[in-house]
Amino acid sequence: MAIEDDVTVIGGGLAGMTAALAAAREGAAVRLLSHKESTLRSASGLVDVLGYDPDGNLRSDPFDAIPDLPESHPYRRVGVEGVREALALFDEVVGDRYRGGHTDRNALVPTHGGTVKPTARYPATTAAGLASDDRSVLLVGFESVTDFDAPLSADHLESAGVPFVARGATISFPGDFRVDAKITRFADALDADERIELAGDGYTTELPAREALAEAVKPHLRGEERVGFPALLGQHHTEEVRESLEAELGAAVFEVPMGPPSLPGMRLEGALVSACRDAGVRFTTGNPVVDFEDGESGRIAAIRVDRNGAAIPFHADQFVLATGGLVGKGIDSDREGVSEPIFDCHVPHPSDRYDWFADDAFGNHPFVRFGVETDDDLRPLDREGEPEFPNLRAVGAVLGGYDFPAEKSGSGVSLATGRTAGLSAAREVTK
Ligand SMILES: Cc1cc2nc3c(=O)[nH]c(=O)nc-3n(C[C@H](O)[C@H](O)[C@H](O)COP(=O)(O)OP(=O)(O)OC[C@H]3O[C@@H](n4cnc5c(N)ncnc54)[C@H](O)[C@@H]3O)c2cc1C
Repeated sequence: MAIEDDVTVIGGGLAGMTAALAAAREGAAVRLLSHKESTLRSASGLVDVLGYDPDGNLRSDPFDAIPDLPESHPYRRVGVEGVREALALFDEVVGDRYRGGHTDRNALVPTHGGTVKPTARYPATTAAGLASDDRSVLLVGFESVTDFDAPLSADHLESAGVPFVARGATISFPGDFRVDAKITRFADALDADERIELAGDGYTTELPAREALAEAVKPHLRGEERVGFPALLGQHHTEEVRESLEAELGAAVFEVPMGPPSLPGMRLEGALVSACRDAGVRFTTGNPVVDFEDGESGRIAAIRVDRNGAAIPFHADQFVLATGGLVGKGIDSDREGVSEPIFDCHVPHPSDRYDWFADDAFGNHPFVRFGVETDDDLRPLDREGEPEFPNLRAVGAVLGGYDFPAEKSGSGVSLATGRTAGLSAAREVTK
């Protein structure tokens, strides 16, 4: 029997899951098809809405800046209210796991590189580390977690002009862990408060992991009021781990968001998957969507998944394209040009490859903004500016017209366009 849904979402990142959730809560039968891991697992777990405008000016209130963005920016399609509603949906899904919803203003969160990032929502575990707080900070790094150099990060923070004294110390994680242990292994030990064997002078002793970690930090504390660790304080009981460390150290404890693999990103992914499942979204994962079947009146009848060489059709009334950008493979590029591989949607770009890049390596590279353009209903537009298909919408990083690393707008665009497209798709079906 043919597989038939109301709404099929292609892509299991922040944009796709938000679209699927919004559509399912609106009453549609939703399936989400996803091939590989999304960027949620590499991203910091911070939810940036707009930190800088296209001229590079720091914006304290992202909502204030949206009306002045270029017409081609995805936020102009969904409007300020669309962004607000998407954040309200996010706040409801994550509950007390995230902070920032009490204000329109961006928070300033220290990153593992020692920069300060303007962001709209941040994990509760990072809250005690905000750069607007003037309490002194000790950053603690681990010898085996090489992408967080705590002393260097502290120096960078001070050079960035934070209003507090920052110092860093590098220690070895207590216990006999493999030298190549992954951060998830340390997180598991803290989650379970595993008993850790510690070698003393001619004797061994055992301590629960959280206490052992606090004991290893104490000799480095010089009265600092806050202690920051790389984000590995548990995968499932992070708040409990953080509170235990606070009690042991007598200082506020926070996590510093890290690069891949990102535990805050994975925790966020877990919360979104649960919310989608609770809303009735069906997940089909592990195989790529490769192409589609034409329907009547220019519509898409089905998309086809490649399963070991067999093309399996998935029929639906409405489709949402959430396959990511150049990183997620939702946008492809080769010597011939830039394309969207499933529906061959038009991706505006200069024909001369030399015009894709700026001369300066750190310059304003046009290729960062490559992606599909849409109408106000988020339907991809063809070369003539007409919707490619009446029943296809595009969301998240597959969209063009914005520069998420420079603007700090990645998650905000995914949430806002995902929610708007999910609702529109569901309403088409249920009207
Ligand atoms: C390293 C890194 C750090 C980041 N840090 C931040 C940050 O600190 N703050 C912030 O706000 N944003 C950050 N972002 C940006 C943010 O994560 C992304 O912009 C945003 O989440 C994009 O989400 P998406 O759902 O559109 O795409 P993706 O997360 O790329 O997901 C696309 C999904 O589509 C699937 N897919 C692709 N092609 C197919 C196919 N043919 N068939 C089936 N499935 C397919 C992929 O497997 C994947 O699951 C970061 C991004 C990266 C890469």
